[in-house]
Amino acid sequence: MNVCQTCGACCASFRVDFHPAELAGGAFAWGQGVPVDLTVPVTPAVVRLCGTDASPPRCVALAGELGVAVQCTIYDVRPSPCREFDTEHAACNQARKRQGLPPLPK
Ligand code: SF4
Ligand code: SF4
Repeated sequence: MNVCQTCGACCASFRVDFHPAELAGGAFAWGQGVPVDLTVPVTPAVVRLCGTDASPPRCVALAGELGVAVQCTIYDVRPSPCREFDTEHAACNQARKRQGLPPLPK
């Protein structure tokens, strides 16, 4: 099992903003694109995944229990910020620390 499937910290730590062209039907959508109803418009050029600016933040697309077993329910169509964030990202351990999880060896 991938370590991310027992973590989910980054999905509950940061705002996730992206261009509306990655929404369902958009010109730069991955697969079917991100469902519009999981996002809120921020500016004409920016949409945000619901829940990622809540306090505490948690993406509405994240299922499961943080630090135990989680799943992105829109994994195949997730937007580019999610695709660019992985265990090599500098903020990975920052997010894990915020959730009380031990750092991953880098
Ligand atoms: S914080 Fe790091 S280990 Fe946890 S889900 Fe995100 S990329 Fe994976
Ligand atoms: S769309 Fe998926 S990968 Fe991206 S923040 Fe939400 S749960 Fe995490």
